[in-house]
Amino acid sequence: MRSLTEQQIATLKTGLDNRTRELSAEIRAELAASDDEQHRNLANAAANSNGESLDRAFVDVEVALIDRQIKELRDIEAARQRMHNGAYGTCADCEEAVPYARLLAYPIAKRCITCQQKHDKTHAHENTPRL
Ligand SMILES: [Zn+2]
Repeated sequence: MRSLTEQQIATLKTGLDNRTRELSAEIRAELAASDDEQHRNLANAAANSNGESLDRAFVDVEVALIDRQIKELRDIEAARQRMHNGAYGTCADCEEAVPYARLLAYPIAKRCITCQQKHDKTHAHENTPRL
């Protein structure tokens, strides 16, 4: 069940778009600073790519350099997908609405805070959100 208004979704989507641009810039900077010619070529490719196809450009690359950014881009892409299919803003575990304030602070959230904390306890080594 969706509790978000169209306006709220639009605001969150803008947040995702901005974050995608930031991450793309970080990736380009990391790659451009690399000594590896392949990395520098990828930096050029990334400059012409939008965020949605960006992670596919790095599939065959040694991505330790940009691992964190790639993971976050994937989370953003997943959030966009959920917006598209109407699942966005609904907790993946308990199916309650995720509060708008939480989504504003952490737009790629898949779960409500209660379920996220439970999830973090059982998956202690996964990336945990700061909220
Ligand atoms: Zn939940």
